[in-house]
Amino acid sequence: MKPLAFYSTNGLAPRVNLRQALLQGQAPDRGLYLPEKFPRLTVAEIADKSYSEIAFEVLRRYATGIVDDATLRAICADAYDFEVPLEKVYDRVHVMRLDRGPTASFKDFAARMMARLIGKFVREAGQTLTILTATSGDTGSAVASAFHGVAGIRVLVLFPVDEVSDRQRKQMTTLRDNIRTIAITGKFDDCQALVKRAFADPALAALPLSSANSINIGRLLPQSVYYFHAAAQLGEPLVIAVPSGNFGDMMGAVFAREMGLPVRRLIVPVNGNNEFPEFLATGRYEKIEPSRNCLSNAMNVGHPSNLARLVAIYGGQMDETGKIHRAPDMARMCRELFSTSVSDEQTRTTIQQAWHDHKLLLEPHGAVAWRGFQDFLATESLGDSPAVILETAHPAKFPNEIERLLGFSPEVPAALAALDKLPEDFDRLPVDYEQFRRYLLTRYTT
Ligand SMILES: *Cc1c(COP(=O)(O)O)cnc(C)c1O
Repeated sequence: MKPLAFYSTNGLAPRVNLRQALLQGQAPDRGLYLPEKFPRLTVAEIADKSYSEIAFEVLRRYATGIVDDATLRAICADAYDFEVPLEKVYDRVHVMRLDRGPTASFKDFAARMMARLIGKFVREAGQTLTILTATSGDTGSAVASAFHGVAGIRVLVLFPVDEVSDRQRKQMTTLRDNIRTIAITGKFDDCQALVKRAFADPALAALPLSSANSINIGRLLPQSVYYFHAAAQLGEPLVIAVPSGNFGDMMGAVFAREMGLPVRRLIVPVNGNNEFPEFLATGRYEKIEPSRNCLSNAMNVGHPSNLARLVAIYGGQMDETGKIHRAPDMARMCRELFSTSVSDEQTRTTIQQAWHDHKLLLEPHGAVAWRGFQDFLATESLGDSPAVILETAHPAKFPNEIERLLGFSPEVPAALAALDKLPEDFDRLPVDYEQFRRYLLTRYTT
């Protein structure tokens, strides 16, 4: 069968297959890749399957003609060797804990699949590839851990020096080998802007660069798997709540729905960076620059990099600067999505209430999702729909906050505990593109 084609949301780049889309990250016209046609998958086809088998069923529909079934099945089994628990809170309401991977955030799901696929493509081509990525905390550690030791790949992670927790930083800076990290004296948006400029810079054309940020389609496809997993266990049509920053995770749910997963409503709670709920409410889109610093730090995004994809799926067009060239179907967006902004104060009281009312332990990102779900319930009754609220990080990644709010420290998973003893190694740069380019040229050419 012919491989599936991917097009760019800016409409000015040639169509590519999955291999090319993964290796390029961003399309040459600075748009984002989307599948020309979504493959179909029914919940009946995955009933009783294990998580890694469901991953295989989802991904094989995108990888036809690119990765053979036996290889893909083995990659899925190797990448997804941890639990994906659905914790019942009450009635048909469940929290899905996506924090059991090696770096204890949901970003492990995509990073582990991408590292294995990109590693395979690079080996086949006899290339060396530099993965350049900006992180607000969890992407960098998940990507660094997933690519650590993969032959033919070098990883460079930029992180905002004051916006990541000690544990998040140590997850990146203690790996060494093919992993390098730079502390940028700026915000996450500054890191992302540096990375974006490097990709567009002709002076760096000789360096094969790829992005592992949520703009890479390889980050999205694995993130639709767990919604199928939830439906296989809980039934459908699902009400889904996804705490959102760059909208990669929620796009996984949109992809799953496009593939045929019955979704009653997709709830998209954000923190104080409320550009999206404002957009739904007013139809006018305004980025937040600079992004607001909130407790749920992995969601401090003033312009979600995947928004152009969402707009495209709803029939519109948005360019990489956030300018809308064709309006999406706002009425349908408002019917199918529900978005709400959750303040830091609400996040804190939600952590306390969820613990008090349900013995449900949440960290700030999951608390934003839980609160968004409560806001939804204030507008509409759940009836007998199953609901799944995503907890995207392990509470032990935020020990001080939890201790202060609940009076105890969450148990630390072994992988995180081991970090405290390892020595760190990272470089520092200011927000200055010329210096960053020089850094790349001196380290990665010759
Ligand atoms: C990255 C991240 C998010 C936000 O996911 P997006 O795909 O950027 O919307 C939420 N929670 C945690 C813990 C994260 O690391």
